[in-house]
Amino acid sequence: MPKIAPPPLKNDCFALPPGVEWTPVDDALALLRDRLHPVANVETLPVGQACGRVLAQDVIAQRSNPPLPNTAVDGYGFAGGRPEGPQILPLAEGRAAAGVPFAGAVPEGQALRVLTGAPLPEGVDTVILEEDVTVQDGHIAFNGPLKAGANTRKAGEDVQADALALPAGRRLTPADLALLSAVGVAEVPVRSPLRVGVLSTGDELRDPGQAAGPGQIYDANRPMLLAMLQRMGFVPVDLGRVGDDRAALRDRLDQAAQQTDAILTSGGASAGDEDHVSALLRATGALQEWRIALKPGRPLALGLWQGTPVFGLPGNPVAAMVCTLIFARPALGLMAGEGWQQPQGYDLPAGFAKRKKPGRREYLRARVRDGRVEVFHSEGSGRISGLSWAEGLVELPDGPLDIQPGDPVRFIPYGSFGL
Ligand code: AMP
Ligand code: MG
Repeated sequence: MPKIAPPPLKNDCFALPPGVEWTPVDDALALLRDRLHPVANVETLPVGQACGRVLAQDVIAQRSNPPLPNTAVDGYGFAGGRPEGPQILPLAEGRAAAGVPFAGAVPEGQALRVLTGAPLPEGVDTVILEEDVTVQDGHIAFNGPLKAGANTRKAGEDVQADALALPAGRRLTPADLALLSAVGVAEVPVRSPLRVGVLSTGDELRDPGQAAGPGQIYDANRPMLLAMLQRMGFVPVDLGRVGDDRAALRDRLDQAAQQTDAILTSGGASAGDEDHVSALLRATGALQEWRIALKPGRPLALGLWQGTPVFGLPGNPVAAMVCTLIFARPALGLMAGEGWQQPQGYDLPAGFAKRKKPGRREYLRARVRDGRVEVFHSEGSGRISGLSWAEGLVELPDGPLDIQPGDPVRFIPYGSFGL
């Protein structure tokens, strides 16, 4: 047995690891925002095929919505408002319907049958609801008062022609397709979807369905990360997994750099003997090892492999997911042309108590029940069941905190991250 003295205790043994610069989360995000830019190509697509794509340019309304003043209800149209009391108006011959306008002008003091969506003919600026009217002997009767302009829509009251319909960077939603169609836009310039590779590393990993011996575990990160990327609107590229083998990892990264716009790896990102992702990136001279003041999540290895950004995520599934949501998602969004996406959170009363030390921002697996934020019973970063249990994250600021039940905490639903 060799005589090896145990390492001496250091003055700072209760501090964060020695010799380490801790980057606050906001600084890390600001750096990513600064350094990255859109890389995706631009193409033109019919509006009907563009849902989920990112607009490459501002889109201008080609016509107003609505294009003409029209009636918002079925009823009878005439000119001007009417005072308090019973009103009787003679009915003009004909009617105005959506798509079949009334050709002539309605004479002053007369009313015309109008149907929802019909452009208002000349001589009509006000409509009385059909339910409020009695029709008899070629006349209508109703009770005033009725304001001039009642029950009508003005031309362009929703969107004016030549106004901005949607800005560059917008990831198109189903409602956006309705808006673009309504304002006469048939085709849109959009970015090609960003292709993002996912690679798992570790000798211990097996694929679901394979036999797993003692000491082996199933690759949980890869299906999760691929599905997350898909939900966020990127094109996931399955790069498989490699063992803790530097040559194999190098080969795989070489191939991946040709196929993808960005790469997420998980595992092997620390500075240990088998941490080949960080070792390889370091060897190319393009590694930034970010010791981010974040729980769970450190470290994050960021580098360029043949010009392709690599996000070396931690292996722990909880840390891998949190780092993807907090760092990779806005960074990839920027590369995809979306601009910098800030997830929307909500201040809600805590349904838990927690004391937090200063120094690191913390993200807890959380969900909302009866208007209160619950957190998962364990903060262990290997507890995959908590990721699945949760419906979002609670974000606790970098400073110290003593949270009591009922105190407001910031809840960010998974949906706010695009999941
Ligand atoms: P590493 O970052 O490689 O040191 O891994 C940290 C922890 O995460 C270890 O317990 C690994 O076994 C585990 N881990 C790494 N990759 C995966 C993965 N793809 N799925 C599930 N657990 C993983
Ligand atoms: Mg590993």
